[in-house]
Amino acid sequence: MKRRFIKVILFMAIMCVLCLHVSIIAYAEQSRDCAIDGHDWRSATCTEPDTCKECGETKGEALGHSWENPSCTMPKHCVRCDETEGQALGHAWSQGSCVTPKVCGICSKIDGKAPGHTLDNKCDTVCNVCQKTVGVPAHEDRNGDGECDVCNAKLSTGENGDEGLGVGAIVGIVLGSISILAIIAAVAFAAIKSKKK
Ligand SMILES: [Zn+2]
Ligand SMILES: [Zn+2]
Ligand SMILES: [Zn+2]
Ligand SMILES: [Zn+2]
Ligand SMILES: [Zn+2]
Repeated sequence: MKRRFIKVILFMAIMCVLCLHVSIIAYAEQSRDCAIDGHDWRSATCTEPDTCKECGETKGEALGHSWENPSCTMPKHCVRCDETEGQALGHAWSQGSCVTPKVCGICSKIDGKAPGHTLDNKCDTVCNVCQKTVGVPAHEDRNGDGECDVCNAKLSTGENGDEGLGVGAIVGIVLGSISILAIIAAVAFAAIKSKKK
């Protein structure tokens, strides 16, 4: 029991000595005398002149910010300390059109792609946005009624061949009917003739 107590006392004593030692070093550093040892200068910054880390004495003047002009995306900023002032200019977009994308007049950045013309369907050749006529209408007449299936435009040339065939068919039907009538008439005539005999 007694030995253990002595051990504890000894341990505490060692700790005290250590503490004291550390405190003495700290005190010695604190009491560093600029007049004797010279100042411990920290270099000037944009906003502070050369400053002694120990006594706070200053020398000369602050550097002042080294401003760079604002750009489209960056406000006026200091190249040394990244301090900013105001706001970025923002892009100055040109009008752009269906075929040309918007371009920034300041930094020449291109804003995406040109949207292309806006047409209702493949027969429409006038852009709904810029009113320009583009391409040729691609009419389509699958049911052969002489009108475009998409836009109902009357289709003049090119489909006449079909119509000609139609006329031919009608002529054929008429001629056919006439010949059938002729045969009936002939048969009837023959029957009448044989009755007369
Ligand atoms: Zn000092
Ligand atoms: Zn600065
Ligand atoms: Zn820009
Ligand atoms: Zn257009
Ligand atoms: Zn059409």
